[in-house]
Amino acid sequence: MALKLFNTLARSVQEFVPLDSAGKKVGMYCCGPTVYDLAHIGNFRTFVFADLVRRYLVFKGYDVRHVMNVTDVEDKIIARVREAKMPLRDFTSQYEAEFFKDLQTLNCLLPHDVPHATDYIAEMIALIEKLIARGVAYKTADGSVYFSIEKYRGCGCHYGQLVKLNFDEMRVGERVSSDEYAKESLADFALWKARVPEDGDVFWPSPWGAGRPGWHIECSAMSMKLLGPSFDLHLGGEDLMFPHHEDEIAQSEGAGVQTAGQRFVKYWLHGAHLLVEGKKMSKSLGNFFTLRDLLAKGFTGTEVRYLLLTAHYRETFNFTLEGLQGARAGLKRIYQCLDSMRQLAQFAPMQKLELAPDIVGVQAFGVTTEPDRTFIGRFESAMDNDFNVSAAWGTVFEWVREKNRDLSSGAMSEKEASSNVHSLEMVLNVFGLRTATFETTSAFIKTDEASITLDDQGTPEPAMRLMFEREAARKAKDFKRADAIRDELKRLGWVIEDTPNGARLKRL
Ligand code: AMP
Ligand code: ZN
Repeated sequence: MALKLFNTLARSVQEFVPLDSAGKKVGMYCCGPTVYDLAHIGNFRTFVFADLVRRYLVFKGYDVRHVMNVTDVEDKIIARVREAKMPLRDFTSQYEAEFFKDLQTLNCLLPHDVPHATDYIAEMIALIEKLIARGVAYKTADGSVYFSIEKYRGCGCHYGQLVKLNFDEMRVGERVSSDEYAKESLADFALWKARVPEDGDVFWPSPWGAGRPGWHIECSAMSMKLLGPSFDLHLGGEDLMFPHHEDEIAQSEGAGVQTAGQRFVKYWLHGAHLLVEGKKMSKSLGNFFTLRDLLAKGFTGTEVRYLLLTAHYRETFNFTLEGLQGARAGLKRIYQCLDSMRQLAQFAPMQKLELAPDIVGVQAFGVTTEPDRTFIGRFESAMDNDFNVSAAWGTVFEWVREKNRDLSSGAMSEKEASSNVHSLEMVLNVFGLRTATFETTSAFIKTDEASITLDDQGTPEPAMRLMFEREAARKAKDFKRADAIRDELKRLGWVIEDTPNGARLKRL
């Protein structure tokens, strides 16, 4: 079965055929966070979607290389750095650390490459030099460099591939220096911005004098460096379509680095916004929830992730706390069915301590029976249809209902239970939803994360709560309490091992 997806470039649903002639390797880039503040769950809707795309491609048998950049220099960051009176890296690294913690809580796989814009300044300069040499970029008197839309179009190139632009209304020769601008001010955009006093210490030397890159060139340079001049998939939220992605195409294709007939990116995927009361969740409107806001209300990362994955990525989705309550109930139904089937199949507690990152599509832990191919097939055909998660969840819930009936009537054999567990865990792994069994048979915490709560572990298991309490006691040097917890854990059938990297919890 072939995967079909909506390609913004074609404005239609297309069959996914990777550039790799062997049809195996897939390069995927997703614009990463701008680290000037905490990310909100609207931002995470986009990253959870990217994670789903990756997991599903792996499930389909592709060998995916997932790149997500960290935007650690652009206009908003510089403004905040100035206010904070901190060095750039010190300022951005605090938000970056929080971002990755949240990403982990949402059980997103770490991208294979996480390039930082500030580490790729040389590549950006080289790309700008190519654009100048090809006559589609020009230097201004202050030492900035701009991309010339007129020259680019004059070479027969198409500006406006992702969005329709009205060039009759375009004010030719205008320039825009800020990283974000509206379609009305369609104009030459900055590739390199000459140093101004407000930039403080944030500048790099270049052939045009001291300055810093524009935001758009950052993604062109990093993506092409890591994935090559042409790659398969580029993702981001719909707000990035213009100007960010349009400018990325112009810069990357304007440099003429692709082989003849190839584009910069074959498929562009854009996720719709997460809304709150009908408005885009955003920092500027002040209507946002961060992940920690929701954890503080008692929800788990797994529940938030599940909620974000209940809506199709191209549909705007209204976030409410009631919706999150509903997500909790839905997940519970699935996990309860899974637990009952695991008990029936008499699975021994799993031995594996950590969830391997790429288990997707491989077989579930401790299960060796064949999965239910009809169920998996129905799930796959739903997902092949442009990631139709609504149909996929419909299939899951119908199947769970059926299995619950079989469980209560005694119609499910031990062998069938084993196969069913395998099937359901396969599907849950594609969605990146930790299974209850994983959560209740082992755990691991890093020493430096002793303060993290159970919220990111999904269903709290008493033993895990105790492990975290013990870590907290150890941190507070209350060794008596720590030892008492160890004994209590033993009584519950768990052993705790202290390793140089942190504490491990295992079934006795
Ligand atoms: P930023 O950190 O602002 O660069 O945004 C990171 C990602 O989040 C980008 O792909 C944005 O398009 C996306 N994004 C921002 N706001 C929302 C929202 N309300 N819903 C979904 N995605 C969003
Ligand atoms: Zn980008």
